[in-house]
Amino acid sequence: MIYKRSSTLFAQAEQVIPGGVNSPVRAFKAVGGTPIFVKEAKGAYLYDEDGNRLIDYINSWGPMLLGHAFEPVVNAVIDKAKKGTSFGMPTEIETQIAELAVAMVPNIDKIRFVNSGTEACMSAVRLARGYTGKDKIIKFAGCYHGHSDSFLIQAGSGAVTFGSPNSPGVTQGTAKDTLLARYNDIENVKALIEANTNEIACIILEPVAGNMGCIPPKDGFLQELRTLCNTHNILLIFDEVMTGFRLAKGGAQELYNINADIVCFGKVIGGGLPVGAFAARNEIMNYLAPLGPVYQAGTLSGNPLAMAAGLAMLNELNNDAEIFNRLAEKTAYLHKGISKALVSQNIDHTINRVGSMISVHFAKDEVVDFESSAKGNNETFKKFFHGLLNEGIYIAPSAFETWFITDALSYKDLDETIEAVATVAKKL
Ligand SMILES: *Cc1c(COP(=O)(O)O)cnc(C)c1O
Repeated sequence: MIYKRSSTLFAQAEQVIPGGVNSPVRAFKAVGGTPIFVKEAKGAYLYDEDGNRLIDYINSWGPMLLGHAFEPVVNAVIDKAKKGTSFGMPTEIETQIAELAVAMVPNIDKIRFVNSGTEACMSAVRLARGYTGKDKIIKFAGCYHGHSDSFLIQAGSGAVTFGSPNSPGVTQGTAKDTLLARYNDIENVKALIEANTNEIACIILEPVAGNMGCIPPKDGFLQELRTLCNTHNILLIFDEVMTGFRLAKGGAQELYNINADIVCFGKVIGGGLPVGAFAARNEIMNYLAPLGPVYQAGTLSGNPLAMAAGLAMLNELNNDAEIFNRLAEKTAYLHKGISKALVSQNIDHTINRVGSMISVHFAKDEVVDFESSAKGNNETFKKFFHGLLNEGIYIAPSAFETWFITDALSYKDLDETIEAVATVAKKL
């Protein structure tokens, strides 16, 4: 495939946008080459600026669960836009989407809308700190909760007790309040809680990790976290920015039958417009301004276009009893096909899958946490990525990303993808 115009556009972008992109993973740093510029998209396909058609397995990193330019969403946005795009005043549609979200998701009474997943997680942690009167948080290595300071933390040198900044600009002062644990390792969490008695406000995690590839929680892991949080008066925050409205109507809480104290949303909830949200029971949400003392605000929060897109999306999911099964079946079919192709070429790999999230790791051993995910062979991944791209299949340009399956994918698309994997596998 030829990417002449994309290359030219990227060179232009680099002159005026740092690295040519508005979010780093788009820049292809992990795989080499130049990013592809999208012209338009419909259903399961992207059409780039050079006229190539690509089967899309990123889907805007999750939001396009029903495919690109999904008509009910597009029409809802157009209708709203004609009536004004922002007021900074309450609108009825905010209540409508809030009511629907509260009905779909277990264990939440109220929801506050923001503009991104980052903002949702950042606000959820502030709320947890304000509510509990404690400062420290536990997060898991490899889980991503957006780019707010408290989350840009890596393991401190040799210490399991507190982290250090993993980006310049994050202060030591902030880093010392974020404790880093190993995903799926409950003993590690217990040790952190014991070493910081009565200091931990919340444990935040992706209930199914999706930002170190897809990593399911081990049996009992979420339940044990729930029990620990109850015992130690710690709030459990599920970051369902990726899993929310994707794994089930009620997200991972429903799938695993575990109640979190605060739940964060993003991606699917906005139907492709910039939306995030966080939600909890009344006693916690009432702690938020203007009812309570914890401050949180946003000029464009609850924006009518964003709410219209989100509402159309959630309505669609709420009214389709089979959607989540259908997605899981398509993903399982893909899993089987990819696996067969890689096995036939004796390529070491592990495939993880939950619902419509799937990731291919070029690692022999099981992938259960950041460390085991990082053992994947990145050289093989690079060849895999570019090989698939050449076959018209677009997966995320990083081995640490999940593939997002959309309902717009037909079995013919899946077969085409599996065939492409078989072709590429021969050259790995
Ligand atoms: C994408 C993501 C975020 C950040 O959301 P943005 O909208 O990019 O700020 C947070 N948490 C998880 C689990 C995510 O996948």
